[in-house]
Amino acid sequence: MKSAITLVLICLGCAGQLSAYGPGKDSDFAGKRVLFIGIDGCRADAVAAAMERGLAPQLKMLCESERGVFTRKFYAGGEMGAATHQPTVSGPGWTSLLTGVWMDRHGVKDNRFIGGRFQTYAHFMRRIKEVQPQAFCASFADWPPIHDFIADGSRKGDAEFLDVKFTRAPDASRHFVDNPEKDIEVRDAALKTLSGRDPDVMFVYFGQVDEFGHGATDSRASFSPDSALYLNAISHVDSHIGELLRAMRARPRFAEEDWLVLVTTDHGGLGNKHGGDSDEERQIWLAAHGASLPKEKMLTEPTPQTALVPMIYQHLGIRPSPEWNPEPPPVQKPEQPVK
Ligand SMILES: [Zn+2]
Repeated sequence: MKSAITLVLICLGCAGQLSAYGPGKDSDFAGKRVLFIGIDGCRADAVAAAMERGLAPQLKMLCESERGVFTRKFYAGGEMGAATHQPTVSGPGWTSLLTGVWMDRHGVKDNRFIGGRFQTYAHFMRRIKEVQPQAFCASFADWPPIHDFIADGSRKGDAEFLDVKFTRAPDASRHFVDNPEKDIEVRDAALKTLSGRDPDVMFVYFGQVDEFGHGATDSRASFSPDSALYLNAISHVDSHIGELLRAMRARPRFAEEDWLVLVTTDHGGLGNKHGGDSDEERQIWLAAHGASLPKEKMLTEPTPQTALVPMIYQHLGIRPSPEWNPEPPPVQKPEQPVK
């Protein structure tokens, strides 16, 4: 039996052309690839200040290069006063960024993920695999719900759609204080895939900026461009981004590849908190690099964070099916208090 399996594997290896993915243009999307980097809780004015003060040189270089763009017209929290209105916290925020819909559809109200409708409004990488089963999708995160709820909840039965899934869980004994180290592990795992494999789409999540904002890592820090510790956390993540970009550019056939790089956050913050409707929490940012970006529009028009997934589909040449985004379920009226 073992030899039969080996034979099958060898044959698959021989038929290299059938296995569409490879370096350069030999991918499922003719060399078009996506690197999506998420920085949790990174306030827009703080990342802008970090770039101005030379603390985020990698992001600055990415945005200021010919195909780059940096916009603060990106927003979290849905539409105020509408069914899409959602709290500016990580659960709904990352769900919106990874599924392309607001809370009225995805159903995630907070970080407990109760009521999430991932089977109907799935993680975008599951949709990519439906269109192109051989696509190589990889995700790296040190906030486990990204994988435990959003990715695993989107699976069709037991079918895994992530070719690489790296989760760095917090150490229970240290709460979140080791977040900078966890980000390093996330970075290193992502570097390994970027250098050694041929990913079509990668998502890389860094958690330390949010932890500094909350004052969890150091009580003197807060979500503010005036917090040196907060800006320092952004600077650390910026250096990780630099390493990822270097590895991307060092790929053997990088010149033939067409990478869309997207860097954004799930929400901002105020003091040591977030979740509300202030500009500091709702206004976010997007740093991006790629030939397919609508730069002018991004700089002038407010863009919801749900627009990120459609940008990815457009870059890869994927036409989203209407079945991926059906009408939201009717809004349930809050229960009347019983006297
Ligand atoms: Zn968050």
